[in-house]
Parts: sequence; structure tokens; C-alpha cells
Amino acid sequence: MTVQIRGQKMLIGGKWVGRDEIIEVRDPQDNSLIDTVPAASKEDMLQCIEEAKEGAKIAASMPVHERIRVINVAADYIEENKEKYAFIISKEGSKTIREAQKEAARCIQTLRISAEEARRINGETIPFDQMPGSENRVGYYYRFPIGIIAAITPFNDPLNLVAHKVGPAIASGNAIIVKPATVTPLSALLLAEAFSHAGLPPKVLSVITGHGREIGDILVTHPAIRMISFTGGLEAGEEIARKAGLKKIGLELGSNSPVIVLEDADLEEAVESSVSGAFWAAGQNCLGVQRIYIQDSIYETFQKAFISRTEQYSVGDKQSYQTDMGPLITEKEAIRVEKMVEEAIGKGAFLLTGGQRNGAFYTPTVLTNVPENCQIAKEEIFGPVVLLYPVGDLDEAIQKSNSVDYGLQAGIFTKNIEKAHKAIAQLDVGGIMINDSSDYRIDAMPFGGVKKSGLGREGIKFALQEMTEPKVVCFKLNQ
Ligand code: NAP
Repeated sequence: MTVQIRGQKMLIGGKWVGRDEIIEVRDPQDNSLIDTVPAASKEDMLQCIEEAKEGAKIAASMPVHERIRVINVAADYIEENKEKYAFIISKEGSKTIREAQKEAARCIQTLRISAEEARRINGETIPFDQMPGSENRVGYYYRFPIGIIAAITPFNDPLNLVAHKVGPAIASGNAIIVKPATVTPLSALLLAEAFSHAGLPPKVLSVITGHGREIGDILVTHPAIRMISFTGGLEAGEEIARKAGLKKIGLELGSNSPVIVLEDADLEEAVESSVSGAFWAAGQNCLGVQRIYIQDSIYETFQKAFISRTEQYSVGDKQSYQTDMGPLITEKEAIRVEKMVEEAIGKGAFLLTGGQRNGAFYTPTVLTNVPENCQIAKEEIFGPVVLLYPVGDLDEAIQKSNSVDYGLQAGIFTKNIEKAHKAIAQLDVGGIMINDSSDYRIDAMPFGGVKKSGLGREGIKFALQEMTEPKVVCFKLNQ
């Protein structure tokens, strides 16, 4: 399939608009030009917010059955065009076509769940008479939309992570402004196309393309924005939190997820699942496996099998169905990963396999003996690199798993229910997968991290809570 360079427009207040200033969207695989998008100005952002003020009123007045209809028609549209959606995800990002197809399918799922959850935005009655003196009061609370939501999204799931904000925002009667990652704006624009097709009223959804550092501040600091829903790196997340002022903030940030493999585990399953978890999307995955703690008695067997499986991975053309792993999002990112690996090796880490860079491509890499004083041991790699550590027992594995600032998800492989429960109780994370790697998620579960991995939860039902506010109603009766 070829893509024509056509000068994609952005969606501001229901109008598809172009600008003279443009951003080139390039395929990381060969740096070829795919398309261009407008580089929005600060004035564009201000206009977007003005339009959204009206959009918020329109969205709040949409009956629930209409919200459900619109979201389902958008999901149908993506389903009918799913090959096109998968192709664009894979073309502008670093996912292989098989990975991109999975993301397109998940986006359809995310929207369908949003449509379903729209019927369940419930309040409840309040027993006011629990308070002496309130015997003659009855009442309840509703959940009301918050107003305008700013969604700032990353490059690594350029469609589904946008849907995780747009779906619940529309389901709950809010207006939403999306600022997608500059390197992968096309998937977000395609999502907006689906909603335009579905007849979403203009001004409810805008997708504005531009550099976060140039137009982000206006979006983040503007008083009309009532919630910022951010998914991305720790640095940008912390900066946004500092600047946001008095508004709700949802932060879905990074991690360096641990997996624990105990001696009673099914080793074949543990290896297969952890290799996939480490190298999915070239390791650019917030819940990707970065650190594996393996019990001493099975360490050698596990390491051998892990290297052997890793070396079977085929790295290359993203559009080929035979390819397991594509490039990183840019050559700069691949160089960053290369430097982190070199630093670890310089401090005594041992390279078991991988460690080769060619442009934006970096081979699946396995390290052992990684000292604690190097960057890669503590920070998020966000690349195809995994660290193996032998441990004496579960207590040591838990202590080491918790020894970092992040806490998104973890995995543990064991058949022992007591040990699994100990890990559940003691690991500081937002989700624990038993007999699976950290890299497992469905779109309907609460998703988010503790510590520096974030604030708040996504997963439609949980995003709906964040995107609505309770309003209490109390009747004083003369009885
Ligand atoms: P990023 O560099 O933090 O960028 C994310 C988004 O923030 C982009 O749209 C970016 O715009 C924008 N941005 C950057 N600085 C900003 C600022 N000062 N004000 C407003 N907007 C700003 O992250 P990324 O490299 O795209 O994504 C990778 C990170 O996302 C990793 O750390 C990963 O773990 C995390 N992530 C977390 C989850 C989760 O659910 N927990 C899921 C996926 C990814 P520009 O593109 O224009 O710079």
C-alpha cells in the first residue's frame, strides 16, 4: 500500500483546517515522508479552547442514547476500515503490522466499552439521617460532566491511548481537545475522522497538532480546562503537574516493570511471555518487562532459554507479517538506548545478546550482572533491553522489584498460591499478573500506577469517574 502525501488537516471546533507552518511525519524505518500536519500556533490553541467552551455545553446536553450511538458508529467505522487504521499506526509509529492490527482491534473494543459504560454513569441515594438532626432530609447525587478535558498523548499507542481519553470523555458528556504526539499525529486524526463520520456535533472534539513545548503550556494552564489527562513520560508529566494549577490531573507515566520467576514456575510459559513483554513495540511500552528476577536454582536454565528465544526474533520491515520487531520511534531514541546499554557495560554489566544499532533499529538485548549504580537499573529504558537477575527467594525478589521509583505493573510466575498472594500484598504497583508478564492489559480494567508511574486510573469505567463530578441534591422535608 502507498500513501499519498496530501497535507493532513487538524480538527479545530468542527472544522478541518490547514496551516502554512507544517510538521513532517516520517516513517522511522527509512525516514521517508508519509504526510504533513499543521504546526498549530498559540492562537490556534486559544481558538480551540474557545470552541470547546461551546462544545462542552453541546456535549453535556447530548442524551445518553445519542452518545452511545455516536461512539458505536465511530467504532463501526474503524472496524470497516481497520486495515487502513492498522497501516497508519504501523507506518507513522514503530509497531509492526501485526502489532498495529492488535492496537486497531483494541481501539474498537475501547470505544464499544465506552458506549456501554455511558449507560452506567450512576449516582446513589444518600442516607442523610445517619447524622442526628438530619432525620427529615432525603437526597442523592448525580455525576455531571466536568467540562473541557485536555488529552495529551504519547507516540507508542497512537490510536488506542487516544481512544482511552476520547471514548470516556464523550460517553460522560464532556468536550475534549487532543494534542497527540508530534511524531505520530495521523492515527489521532483518523480517530477524529471516525467521530466526524459518526455525526459527533462540531466543537465537542478537537485534535490539534503541534509541538507540546510550544502550544502545551496554553492548554495546561488555561482556566477553562477542567481536567488534564496526560499519558507520557515522567519529565513532561511532572512539568505539567507543576504548571496545571487548580484542575484535575490524570497522569499515566512510565515504568521499568519487574517480573519474578520462582523455581516452581512453568519455565516455557515464563520465557515466552517475558520475551514478548520485553520486546513488544520494540520495548516502547509503558508496561513492558524491564527487570526479571529469577530464583537461583533455575537461573541458568531460564537464561539459556530466554537468550535462545530472543535470538529467534526477526527485526526488520514493519509492514512484513514475518517481522517480530520494528525500529524505535527515531534514531535519536535508538542512540539514547544504545548509550544506556554502553554505560551499563562500562560499569560491569554483561551483554548476553543484542546491543547492535543500525539507524533507528536496535537488536533485542539481554543484560545480566547490571550494577545498581547505572541508569538502566533504575530508570525506564523504553527500548528493547531486558535485565536478568538471579535471586535467592521471593522476599529478595520483592525487595528488589520495589527498589525503584516506578510502580505500574508486575508479573510473577509461580504455582504456589501463598507466594502469589505474598507478591500481591507486597509489590508496590497498580496491577499484578500471576503467571503472566507485566505486559498484560485489557481495556476495561483499572489501569495506572503508583509512585512515579502516575496518578489516577484509566480503563473506561475508571476514567468516567475521573471525568465526572458528583453533585449532591438534598431535600429538607417538613415532616
Ligand atoms: P513524552 O515525550 O512525555 O510526550 C507525551 C506527550 O506530551 C506528547 O504529546 C508531547 O508532545 C507532550 N508534551 C511533552 N512536553 C510537554 C509539555 N511541556 N507540555 C505539554 N505537552 C507536552 O512521551 P513519549 O515519548 O511520547 O511517550 C513515552 C512515554 O510515555 C514513556 O515514558 C511511557 O512509559 C509513557 N507511557 C505511559 C503509559 C501509561 O499508560 N502509563 C502508556 C504509554 C506511554 P510532543 O510530541 O509535541 O513533544
